[in-house]
Amino acid sequence: MARYIGPECRLCRRVGEKLFLKGDRCFTPKCAVDRRGTPPGDHGGSRRRRRVSERGLQLKEKQKARFSYGVLERQFRNYFAEALRKPGITGELMLELLERRLDNVVFRLGFADSRPQARQLVSHGFFTVNERKCDIPSRSVKVGDVIAWKEGSTKLEHYKQIAREAKSKQIPAWLSLDLQRLTGKVLKLPGRDEIASKINDQAIVAYYSR
Ligand code: SF4
Repeated sequence: MARYIGPECRLCRRVGEKLFLKGDRCFTPKCAVDRRGTPPGDHGGSRRRRRVSERGLQLKEKQKARFSYGVLERQFRNYFAEALRKPGITGELMLELLERRLDNVVFRLGFADSRPQARQLVSHGFFTVNERKCDIPSRSVKVGDVIAWKEGSTKLEHYKQIAREAKSKQIPAWLSLDLQRLTGKVLKLPGRDEIASKINDQAIVAYYSR
C-alpha cells in the first residue's frame, strides 16, 4: 500500500494544528506549527484572516484524521464505508476502526514515539500478534489479541530504551501492558472517550454524506 513519504511537519502545517507525528520533537520549540503556523508554500498570505466555509471545516477534520493515522484517501474512505455498514454511530465506529490498526496499537502501547515510527517498526517485522509475525500496519486487532516484540527485536537499542521507559507510559484502558515481558493485550474495543483525539468525527460523517 502506498503511503505519504513527505515531511510529517508539512501535514501539521496543512491543517494548522499539531498532529504529533514526530515524537519528542513535537514537544520542543522546534515544532514547525509553533514556529511558523502557516500552511506549506504560503509566505504569509494566510496570515490574513480567511473565512472558512463549513465544507472547508469538514474537509479539515477529515484530513486531520487521515494524516494522524497515516492513511491514504482511498483507505480512509473504506474505513468510512465499513463504519457505515455497521449498526451504531458511524463517526465513532470509524474512529474505532482506525484506532484498532496494529500500528496505532503499537504506538498506544508506548512501543513507538509516534504513529509513523510505529508503522515503520511494524513494516520491518518487529512484532508478532498472537505469536505469529505480522508486518501489516493496517491489520485490525480484536479483543484478546496479544502484541509482542518478535524474538531478535529485543536486541535493538530502541527496544532497550522502551523497556527502560515503559513504566512511565500511559496506556489507554482498552489495552494492557505486561511490563516484564513488554507485551500488550487488547482488553476490549476502544470507546470514543478512550480515543484521545481532538478529531470531530461528526464533521467527517457530514463531509462524506454530501
Ligand atoms: Fe507536527 Fe510534530 Fe512537526 Fe510539530 S514537530 S509540526 S507537531 S510533526
